[in-house]
Amino acid sequence: ITAIRGSVRESAIGKTKTTDKADRATVEQAIDQNTRKILYKMLNKGVFDAINGCISTGKEANVYHATKSHGQELAIKIYKTSVLEFKDKGRYMQGDYRYSNGCGKHNPREMARKWAEKEIRNLMRLKAAGIRCPTTSCNLRRLHIVVMEFIGKSGWAAPRLKDAALSSDKLREGYVEIIIAMRTLYQKCKLVHGDLSEYNILYYEGHLYIIDVSQAVEHEHPHALDFLREDCVHVSDFFKKHGVAVMTIRELFDFIVD
Ligand code: ATP
Ligand code: MN
Repeated sequence: ITAIRGSVRESAIGKTKTTDKADRATVEQAIDQNTRKILYKMLNKGVFDAINGCISTGKEANVYHATKSHGQELAIKIYKTSVLEFKDKGRYMQGDYRYSNGCGKHNPREMARKWAEKEIRNLMRLKAAGIRCPTTSCNLRRLHIVVMEFIGKSGWAAPRLKDAALSSDKLREGYVEIIIAMRTLYQKCKLVHGDLSEYNILYYEGHLYIIDVSQAVEHEHPHALDFLREDCVHVSDFFKKHGVAVMTIRELFDFIVD
């Protein structure tokens, strides 16, 4: 795709900005032919007008920055479909009635498509409940590719909470904001994130945004409360480490479920 340009991740500050074309080869390489075809189709349908560079390369997905001609910024999350790179998220899938038919369990392409589908559905549930997260919609997914609102500005992705270097006041506010979001997620969305930590929370314009919700489970999932407890531990540990007077895990857990 000629519209795809390279980029660097300045991980220390969690920012991403499109840079020189030396990276182009690397970026192009990371996108397989099938994915490229789908991206072309989306491009032709006007979902976006250019892919500018890579925001993140992870184990399960790569995220790219894209724009529309009128300047709107988008994030494109492409789930990995190769067997080698595919990480088994079986612990979340098991017991989820929406995916319990077992079909394609071992087909990485099929699984990647399902994670993409879940990501969209869950993001929409968060949004409907008023939780800050990237806006998206069903028609912004094609197979294992998810297009969503870009959290950030002018090509600079919002930093992860981990990299945000917040003042103690902002940390305190952030703690309150995230535990309320966790409660809303449980009470209104009937979901447990399952991988919530400073890595999957972005800090943008004074607020915390929850991302990476493909593995979120229904609160009836057999391990939902175990996952919730882990989320509580990860969130508490982060804020505690940064000097916020946090509730005990038990208190936080009860605040969320009661
Ligand atoms: P992996 O686990 O393989 O690293 P991932 O599944 O964790 O990938 P995400 O957490 O959804 O993928 O996204 C990876 C990174 O991309 C995030 O940490 C964040 O920096 C960036 N990112 C994801 N979505 C957005 C978005 N909508 N706007 C801005 N940045 C985003
Ligand atoms: Mn993540």
